[in-house]
Amino acid sequence: MAWLHIVAPGRGTTPTASSWCECGHRARAVGRPRVLALIDTHHRHRDACPLRTTTDTTTTDERRSAA
Ligand SMILES: [Zn+2]
Repeated sequence: MAWLHIVAPGRGTTPTASSWCECGHRARAVGRPRVLALIDTHHRHRDACPLRTTTDTTTTDERRSAA
């Protein structure tokens, strides 16, 4: 199992993403360009993963600021 968790609080805020996998792969990204790069890395990891995991779970947590 590989997980990708993206937190995008909304406009004008910094998104963050976490990627992790049962094989021990761990990555975190802060900022839109890095988050986009992490998403790409995460999807490529499925092919590179030593466990050859085929299950990919992506969760997106979009929080709207009330301010
Ligand atoms: Zn892996």
